[in-house]
Amino acid sequence: MHERSLIRSLLRQVEQIVAVEGGGKVTEIRVQVGDLSGVEPLLFQTAFDDMVPSVFSSDCRLALEIVPVTAVCSECEHQFEIVDFQFRCPECQTKSVQVIQGDEVTLISVSINSNNSIEGVAS
Ligand SMILES: [Zn+2]
Repeated sequence: MHERSLIRSLLRQVEQIVAVEGGGKVTEIRVQVGDLSGVEPLLFQTAFDDMVPSVFSSDCRLALEIVPVTAVCSECEHQFEIVDFQFRCPECQTKSVQVIQGDEVTLISVSINSNNSIEGVAS
């Protein structure tokens, strides 16, 4: 299952952060999931709940943020949000567009001991 392997690498990433920070109890893991990442939020949550007790405390929470798909036009460099999978520049109508956001799963922050939030850990 796609979600399980994502959670596995996510938990490994968090473990490293906790080790660098000198340990502590992880209370929340905040993750951004792109609309195009192919991740089913419900399956992601289920896999997380299933796997987190073996690594961290079972009351460690997953906070999911769904991010819209953003693309940039390779002709006029216009940036726009992709709606309904319309991969076409709204300015010049070219279909040569590049997705710059929304196709990945990104770790945003990790809360350790509830009063200690580490920001900017995106890889
Ligand atoms: Zn364009």
